[in-house]
Amino acid sequence: MLGLMMDSPLLVSTLLEHAESTHGSTEIVSRRCEGDIHRYTMKDAAGRARRIANLLARYDIQQGDRVATLAWNNYRHFELYYGISGTGAVLHTINPRLFAEQLVYIINHAEDRLVFVDLTFVPLLEAIQGQISGVEKFIILCDEDKMPDTSLANAHCYETLLAAESDQFQWPEFDERSACSMCYTSGTTGNPKGVLYSHRSTVLHALASVGEEVMGMASSTCFLPVVPMFHVNAWGTPYSAAITGAKQVFPGPGMDGASLWELIEAEKPDLLLGVPTVWLMLLNHMDSIGKKLDSVENVIVGGSAAPISMIRAFQEKHDAFLIHAWGMTEMSPVGTLNSHNKHMEALPLEERYQLQAKQGRPVYGVEMKIVDDNLQPLPRDGVASGRLLVRGPWIVNGYYKNEASDSFIDGWFDTGDVATIDEHNYLTIVDRSKDVIKSGGEWISSIDMENIAVGHPELTECCVIGVPHPKWDERPVLLAIKQPGSSLSEDDVKAYLDDKIVKWWMPDKVLFVEELPHTATGKLHKVPLREQYHDLLM
Ligand code: ADP
Repeated sequence: MLGLMMDSPLLVSTLLEHAESTHGSTEIVSRRCEGDIHRYTMKDAAGRARRIANLLARYDIQQGDRVATLAWNNYRHFELYYGISGTGAVLHTINPRLFAEQLVYIINHAEDRLVFVDLTFVPLLEAIQGQISGVEKFIILCDEDKMPDTSLANAHCYETLLAAESDQFQWPEFDERSACSMCYTSGTTGNPKGVLYSHRSTVLHALASVGEEVMGMASSTCFLPVVPMFHVNAWGTPYSAAITGAKQVFPGPGMDGASLWELIEAEKPDLLLGVPTVWLMLLNHMDSIGKKLDSVENVIVGGSAAPISMIRAFQEKHDAFLIHAWGMTEMSPVGTLNSHNKHMEALPLEERYQLQAKQGRPVYGVEMKIVDDNLQPLPRDGVASGRLLVRGPWIVNGYYKNEASDSFIDGWFDTGDVATIDEHNYLTIVDRSKDVIKSGGEWISSIDMENIAVGHPELTECCVIGVPHPKWDERPVLLAIKQPGSSLSEDDVKAYLDDKIVKWWMPDKVLFVEELPHTATGKLHKVPLREQYHDLLM
């Protein structure tokens, strides 16, 4: 027997309608590429999203057509999220940090018809325009008087176009399983792959994310998403903000410590979200000016592992709680969060830090298990480690255009991560499977060792790779960036590690480097390093 409840489709336009009628006066603050600070309200955003919808209709954009954005976190990007998806078109957010050939690949692969672009990124498109001839129009996100002198053919001014449109529009109703937005993985091995989110998956993900022990968002929350809207929808926060009425403070291009602090001091957010490298910059800046992040209560950190030194710095210097999170593009992205709970708050501080360093527990809607190479389940004892598989309503079920992948196994998605799960369902990421170091048949976690090493006050960033070895197959090598002026030696670093890791984990070499390569999503990019140091120990 079926239930007798309404089957209202879960569409992102319903989030915006709710936000406008319930949280219309909520402020949205943005640092613009033009340099100034812009303010408007959720009601303003809703009106402008309807103007976008009218503009798309004028350009004959149909449901399912892909419309791209190449933009920072700002109010125009926010209204485009709703204006594009609300009509049934597919919002394709492009990561400007991808290499030029990857940009060409994904714009052509997605068959984007329009590209909305921030001033900063116009030169990126100018350089490749000959190779993306399918794009019909480039719409530059600025006022008429800021229009650049561009070689882009068919370039138009966003504000001029919007001003000519009506702010009246009736959002269409359609199947909630329709595509809503898409994001390509950064493709560190092979071409990027398109992940196509649906309206249903997006709304369910947002509903689950806002919970008290998840992101903990409410109408009283003011949050600063440093995690970009051009990669995995800023962890879904543009949608969570509409549900809760939380105030958004968008940093625009100002991702450095000083610019972030300026915005934090002025707008007093209580919640920050971003990857560890961003927080390292902010923490260093705060040390250098000797100030405290007074307004900040929680910092959600994911994308790469948060080291204990960072958990400690936020707590002890800024009285802020670091919520460690794990997810991926293919998971919309939220998988697990390590939020406050009664048990954690009762622990002695050092024990609490150890627990906080785990990636957390799954959000309702995400199921996870670890398996061995024969796909046999492994125990949840916090010790056994294996391939991490996940499933749930906001997890990818296939890549765009059926791009082949061996990641889909009997209804589960193989994350490519190696992990342990403990008896309370806390997840610990041991490594990416391709980054695990196999020494004499045993595994060494490069993530663990990086996080321990970076706890040294004179090291700013550390990277551990497996290097071929004649006797042990592979041995770890630590590449480290020193603080300016530091005279640290290889022996000093080994002495620091000595009582913190088991003996056989000790890196065979510690090399000091000036910089380390990163992927377009800010993670350490180990492939070129493994090639560069391939013969070091042979
Ligand atoms: P890509 O850069 O390929 O687009 P994603 O942004 O989707 O990747 O990142 C997904 C991967 O990032 C995860 O599979 C995991 O390896 C890593 N990751 C994400 N969060 C964490 C975390 N808190 N700790 C360790 N690794 C993490």
